[in-house]
Parts: sequence; structure tokens; C-alpha cells
Amino acid sequence: MSCLFCKIVAGEVPAKRVHEDEELVAFEDINPQAPLHVLVIPKRHISTLNDMTAADDAIVGQMARRAAAIARERGFDGSGYRTVLNCNSDAGQTVFHIHLHLLAGRRLAWPPG
Ligand code: 5GP
Ligand code: ZN
Repeated sequence: MSCLFCKIVAGEVPAKRVHEDEELVAFEDINPQAPLHVLVIPKRHISTLNDMTAADDAIVGQMARRAAAIARERGFDGSGYRTVLNCNSDAGQTVFHIHLHLLAGRRLAWPPG
């Protein structure tokens, strides 16, 4: 198993977990880009958004709702937050196990860089 995020799921690489359930793990990004920067990932390996099928619809919904729940727990539901799912090189994807970024705690520019 060579995937970094599969290793985090398995506990072989340490991470600061903020949530875990049967389907998902959420953990703090090692190089945070905002006061709150959490990655929400499925336990099951899926490389990119391009690889998702109808069978994955439920997991994407769980990832989005979990990001919203973490934002709410940290008090950012009213002030706002951003969720990002980068796909391939132009978007800056560097880890090829899908992950939903949750960013909050500062004003985020739009359009993104
Ligand atoms: P991407 O650029 O693929 O959308 O995002 C990958 C994210 O994973 C980056 O924000 C990066 O900081 C984070 N990351 C990379 N390696 C590790 C690691 O070993 N542990 C944690 N917690 N985050 C990581
Ligand atoms: Zn993986």
C-alpha cells in the first residue's frame, strides 16, 4: 500500500484526527492554509474525482456533511468556510486519494489563485 492517506486511515502514518466513523476520517492538514484546515477523506481509496461512480454518491454527501459539522463545532458556520476538492495537476492535487479541504478562520480570496 503506497498511498499516504490510506496509511493515515490504517494508523501507519500519524495524523491529528478530528473525526472518525465507519466510512470517513477527518484530520488536520500538516501545512494549514487557514486557522482551521481539516481534510475529510473516505476510508476507501478513490484516487481522484474522475474515478467516482454513482456508487460513491453517498460518500461525497457524507464528506460534505461532515465538513459542515466540523465547521459548526468550531463556530465557523455563521462566519463562513470553504470546502475544496482538487482534481489533478492544474488544481494542485498532490495526494491521489480524494480529500475534501475544509478551510475557515480568515477571509478567503475569490477567485482562488
Ligand atoms: P491537495 O494539494 O492534494 O489538494 O492536498 C493535499 C493536502 O495534504 C495538502 O494540503 C498537504 O498539506 C496535506 N498533506 C500532505 N501530506 C500530509 C501528511 O502526511 N499529513 C497531513 N495531515 N496532511 C498532509
Ligand atoms: Zn488511498
